[in-house]
Formats: sequence, structure tokens, C-alpha cells
Amino acid sequence: MNASSVRVVQGKDWTPIMVRDEEPFFVEKWRDEMGNEYINEYRLVFNFQEGLFVEVIQKLEGSGVGGFSWEVSLDNLDAESLMRLNDSGSLERIRAKVKEIMQQLTENLDSLFFDPIGDRRRSCYVCGSDALHECVRCSRDICNQHAVFAETEYEEPLTYCHACFDKVIEK
Ligand SMILES: [Zn+2]
Ligand SMILES: [Zn+2]
Repeated sequence: MNASSVRVVQGKDWTPIMVRDEEPFFVEKWRDEMGNEYINEYRLVFNFQEGLFVEVIQKLEGSGVGGFSWEVSLDNLDAESLMRLNDSGSLERIRAKVKEIMQQLTENLDSLFFDPIGDRRRSCYVCGSDALHECVRCSRDICNQHAVFAETEYEEPLTYCHACFDKVIEK
């Protein structure tokens, strides 16, 4: 099984948009009434919004230029294409990659949602309860009760712990 043929298409913010198997699971050659030879390449794609579908690219044989493409849902795939898909291992390759991405996303989610307050929760150095303030002099965390709000000539009062406030007013 060749997992390297599977490519992840990401958006600008690196979020995965789709997973595409670069290796076609079916290459169909056919000729029109004018005698032109065509190649239809069938590739399996998983889109995180739309789900699984098949991308068909049609090229004129020997032209080298990329022809045009369209999408077919798995429900609308003919029996032969379905059989080729089944034999190609493309479904397993895509499934494994999508599963891997989902696991990474889940891990990222876990780290995002794990105790969002966590490190930001501080405790008062005097009594250990939740600290919402920081002393402007010693920078230690202090709770409401152990904070002193000293009036200033500016709008914002200065916050001290009791120990520092005592020292400041001693001067
Ligand atoms: Zn306290
Ligand atoms: Zn202090």
C-alpha cells in the first residue's frame, strides 16, 4: 500500500480542507467517433465538508495539457469504476490519512479545552485564596482582602500588598 500518494490540501490557516489520493484508482481510455483518444483519470478525494467523492479528469491522449474535470459521488459511480476503486486500496489510504488528521485535531482540541484558566489562576501570597491583583512594588499576587488600593492623583489607584503599603507610607 502506497500511503505517500495521499496529499492533504490545507487552507491559508493550515486547517485541512481535503485529502486527495494523487494516484488514480482507475485510468480509462476511450475513443470518440472522430477517432480522438481520451483518458479519464479517477481519483478519490475526501472533503472535510462534503465527504467522499471521485474526481474525474479527462485529457486528450498525447496532448499533455490538463483537460477538464468533474466530480462524481460514490453513489453514481458505475460498477467497473467501483470495482477498480475497491481493488486499488485508495479507500484505505484516504481513510487512514483522514483518521490521522482527526486524531491530531482531537489532540489539539484537548489541549485547547484543558483547564483554560490553568496557569492563569493565581493565589494570594498571604492567604492562598484566588488572587485578582498584583502588588505594584513587589509584584506578588494578592487577593481582594490583602490588597490596598492607594489613591493617586491619576485616575487609577495603585495596588499594594499590605507589607509594601506599610513601607511606602513609612517614608
Ligand atoms: Zn489574601
Ligand atoms: Zn508588595
